[in-house]
Amino acid sequence: MGYLRKFEYKIIQKGSYKIIRNCAGCRCKTTYISTEKFRVNANGKYLDVWLIYQCGKCKHTYNLSIYERMKVTDIPKVEYDKFLINDLEFALDYGKDRKLFQRNRADIDWGSIDYYIVGDDIAFKRGDYIEIYNPQQLKIRIDKVIANVLQISRSKAKLLERNGTIEIKSNHLEYKIEILVNGELI
Ligand SMILES: [Zn+2]
Repeated sequence: MGYLRKFEYKIIQKGSYKIIRNCAGCRCKTTYISTEKFRVNANGKYLDVWLIYQCGKCKHTYNLSIYERMKVTDIPKVEYDKFLINDLEFALDYGKDRKLFQRNRADIDWGSIDYYIVGDDIAFKRGDYIEIYNPQQLKIRIDKVIANVLQISRSKAKLLERNGTIEIKSNHLEYKIEILVNGELI
C-alpha cells in the first residue's frame, strides 16, 4: 500500500546518561547523576581526567574515567582548557557518549533517559507515512515514542496497532520506526 504524505521525526537526547550502581554510602543500588564537572589530576607529565557523578540520594561521588595516565602533550590544549573550566557543553558531550560508559562498565539507567522529539505537530490521517529516527540509539520503549508522536495515550497506540489502524515497523539496523496510518486515529 502506498502512502500519501510523509513526515519525519527525530529523537534527541537531552541530558547526560544516569548510572545505576551500588552506592557505598546508601548500601544499595541508587541512581548516579552527572555533576557536569570534571576532575583533572596531574601527575608529572601524565594526566587523569574524570567526569564526576554523584549519588542522587547521599551525594557519594563516582568518577567516570575519561583519560587515564595520558601524556599531557597528547591532549589538545583546547580540550584541556575545557576540562579545567568545566565547560558545560563538553561535559554534556561526554555524558552522552555511550562508549565512555561501556569502557567504564557503568550501567546506564535506561528508564530515565531524557529526550525530546523534533518534528511538526500534525493531525495525522489515513495514508500518512511517518518515519521516526533514533540516531543515538536510545533504548526507549517504542510505544512511548509512538504515543508521543501521534499525541495519543500509550494504551490508545497499542489498541490502534492491534486493530490495524496503524502499522508499525521497527528497523533496529537503521534505528528507525516507521508508522503507516491505515485509518482515522480518533
Ligand atoms: Zn548514595
